[in-house]
Amino acid sequence: MAEMFYDDDADLGVIQSKKVAIIGYGSQGHAHALNLRDSGVEVVVGLRDGSASRAKAEEQGLIVKEIGEAVADADVVMILTPDQAQRGVYAEHIEPNLKPDAALFFAHGFNIRYGYITPGEGHDVCMVAPKGPGHTVRRQFEDGRGVPAIIAVEQDASGSAWDLALSYAKAMGALRAGGIKTTFTEETETDLFGEQSVLCGGVSKLIQYGFETLTEAGYQPEIAYFEVLHELKLIVDLINEGGITKQRWSCSDTAEYGDYVSGPRIITPEVKENMKAVLADIQDGTFATRFIEDQDAGAPEFEALRAEGQNHPVEKTGQELRKLFAWKTTDADYEDGSA
Ligand code: NAD
Ligand code: MG
Ligand code: MG
Ligand code: MG
Ligand code: MG
Repeated sequence: MAEMFYDDDADLGVIQSKKVAIIGYGSQGHAHALNLRDSGVEVVVGLRDGSASRAKAEEQGLIVKEIGEAVADADVVMILTPDQAQRGVYAEHIEPNLKPDAALFFAHGFNIRYGYITPGEGHDVCMVAPKGPGHTVRRQFEDGRGVPAIIAVEQDASGSAWDLALSYAKAMGALRAGGIKTTFTEETETDLFGEQSVLCGGVSKLIQYGFETLTEAGYQPEIAYFEVLHELKLIVDLINEGGITKQRWSCSDTAEYGDYVSGPRIITPEVKENMKAVLADIQDGTFATRFIEDQDAGAPEFEALRAEGQNHPVEKTGQELRKLFAWKTTDADYEDGSA
């Protein structure tokens, strides 16, 4: 059974006695900076010169410095720039300015797991990875709740890295919900696998094929959109609350029977073999190398695939249809970050 930690297991005083630099002010960065600040922690946000995020952070009453300056003073440095930018930011701005005993924190293990960042021996290396998008992490905190986090220590130079990580997680509000102990390797490999095979990659392709199958058979795109995309949220909410069993209980018996007899015809055992191949590429670094090499080249493959995805007919149908909903949902309401 996984080891769980709650508010009573952590001492907020540990992180409150440290100066924390949050590097980056995007989806996770704003949530970490604001939640820590509201938990009584001394926070500075580190941003590149000319960063578009500076005004946003300052509007929230946060102190903003250039990255190197923010790091120079900090006991704890949380790196929340995009994964592909972390190696460069670390080498150029963080490492040269880091106090010899400062702790390095991450919200995802990618750069440590694949060796793009190798911190010196004097530093605690910890992870507090909220299991939700940054905007939800902030909203839940404001509502008095919290998004669960998974917590890891890769390097314990101080001998008290775990207490520090737990304290940080408590200040984030994560231990109101619960924290689970993991390792950088486990978090990185399972996070990449989950988003590639099920949450992002798997679901996106399933929606696109479903939409294509219905519209190619002559059904209205708007109806197809409702049946294969819109209702997905309602189904996932039920699964989140009570597992697949609750979803099946809430759906009609017709839907439940169709699930049993047709689900295995769509997601065949071959899909599981494909999943194993994707996992192998994550474990042996093939995926990481491909991602970073493309990013280093200016992301030509990434940009081409992004454009292709945005041009899929289901996206156009959705954009038009969402404007027509009576409750006037706008796409901005859904701008909640990524997996
Ligand atoms: P993001 O893309 O939302 O924001 C990154 C921020 O970093 C930008 O807003 C900017 O302030 C800064 N930045 C961007 N490029 C930079 C560069 N080249 N140099 C310096 N600063 C730069 O990032 P994110 O999605 O919040 O991800 C940050 C980390 O959190 C990643 O390790 C990610 O895997 C992890 N994570 C994200 C989520 C999520 O909800 N998005 C969830 C769990 C973990
Ligand atoms: Mg239906
Ligand atoms: Mg039922
Ligand atoms: Mg994830
Ligand atoms: Mg991820």
